[in-house]
Amino acid sequence: MSIAGGYWKAVEAAAAVDGDCVQVFTKNNNRWQGKPLLDEECVRFQAALEEHAIQHTLSHASYLINLASNKPDLLAKSIDAMVDELQRADRLGIPYVVFHPGSHTTSTPEEGLATIADSLKTILARTDDLTTYPLLENTAGQGSNLGFEFEQLSFLIDEVGQAERLGVCIDTCHTFAAGYSMANSQDYETTIQQMETTFGIAQIKAIHLNDSKRPFASRKDRHEHIGQGEMGDEPFRFLMNDTRFASIPMYLETEKGEIDGIDMDQMNLDKLRSLVG
Ligand SMILES: [Zn+2]
Repeated sequence: MSIAGGYWKAVEAAAAVDGDCVQVFTKNNNRWQGKPLLDEECVRFQAALEEHAIQHTLSHASYLINLASNKPDLLAKSIDAMVDELQRADRLGIPYVVFHPGSHTTSTPEEGLATIADSLKTILARTDDLTTYPLLENTAGQGSNLGFEFEQLSFLIDEVGQAERLGVCIDTCHTFAAGYSMANSQDYETTIQQMETTFGIAQIKAIHLNDSKRPFASRKDRHEHIGQGEMGDEPFRFLMNDTRFASIPMYLETEKGEIDGIDMDQMNLDKLRSLVG
């Protein structure tokens, strides 16, 4: 949800479509610097959460950050920006900052992963006074984006060595685009078991619910409204009814807007709730 006009506005917007959790960017997602946070903004954000009984919040890090960069200046800037993201979220009382692990660009995937692990060690050391911590998001594997294989996420968690301060956010569209099927109950269970045997499902602190415009295993990241894309209803039915994820907040990252007077977020939430039971 947009924070235009104040952080509390994102909470109001979530409540208006019957959301019970809210994800925000704590600053412009295409800028390195954000305006300093004011105490009164944090207080008002918390008050709005309380007023609307929204218990789960999540911050999404800027898309500019690349913790795998092989360019020293960009890497240093990315590490600083990630520390800033965590500090901002912490002040707002947001427990997690989800981020895309990084892109190896002109180096190798192995070098990229090693760089991400080193970056995360630095970031965690610089934020050990905070309760907020980062969540690795699995990716579609577009271009040189890392984190599309569950093994890559588990490598990072093992290498950083602080599993209690480094969680995972699973994106359904990215999972599908990366080639993990959830098309029927057997495939769904196989995919969940692959998560369990790699990074472990206890590491999952948030889920992004998105259908995919692009086909299975396409390695392309294009979100679609729930049930209207290449994934269809079934994967979401399995997830919505899986008691292992009953207490894990799930966030939409589908297109905003209205069609025939119907809010698209409301439509997607209604759709998901209709799949329960
Ligand atoms: Zn996502």
